Amino acid sequence: MDTEPGNFPATAGCQARKFGQPLTSSDATLDARLTMALTRVVHAIRTQQQDQSVGYGLLPVQADLLLSLRGDRPAAERDVVTLARDLHLTPTVVADAARVLEHKTLVRWQTEAPGSPPMLNLTPLGQMQADSLGGEQLLLDRLGDLDADAKANALAVILELIYEFQRRGIVSVVRTCTTCRHLRRDGLPGGRTSYHCQLLEVALLPTDLRVDCPEHQAQVLA
Ligand code: SF4
Repeated sequence: MDTEPGNFPATAGCQARKFGQPLTSSDATLDARLTMALTRVVHAIRTQQQDQSVGYGLLPVQADLLLSLRGDRPAAERDVVTLARDLHLTPTVVADAARVLEHKTLVRWQTEAPGSPPMLNLTPLGQMQADSLGGEQLLLDRLGDLDADAKANALAVILELIYEFQRRGIVSVVRTCTTCRHLRRDGLPGGRTSYHCQLLEVALLPTDLRVDCPEHQAQVLA
């Protein structure tokens, strides 16, 4: 069936609509379809991570610990108690997983100062395996071709979902702008939102919202 670029093909019970046109009551299932689509993306990434973990000989908990050590995780949040809190595991389970990763030379314990708790860091080999486990390439390969405005809006929506999940206690600490006490939201006409970082004193476009900010400070959630 031929269609103009940006048009959905007309099928029985579904009128063709230009991409970007306002939604109507016939789009009442948009939330359900978005939920299903997100679930499938998450499932695809999780499946790839599990396949790769098996390839590296890692149990899921060991792979999760390796993944949690990537990015800009502050040096002070690499102790076993904080890692256990973030992963929703007990310190004993994290310590056991860390012992296996250390044996595989993927992580090492380092102590900053006498008397301070040991912090867990990735070795270069661990960094390489963690990056590979992350599954980002699957998304990066596809996202590069998509519209920048659509991606900015998607980022804002996903970060607001993360905020809501943290508020409900479904995820623990994440260093996103939407869960940071320095973020100020202002409502705009049309249900849009503008963002401002009070710490850095900058306005944030949806494209500027951070996912893993080293300056993040958790807000007290109601
Ligand atoms: S400090 Fe970082 S996480 Fe917090 S609002 Fe500013 S940019 Fe976002």
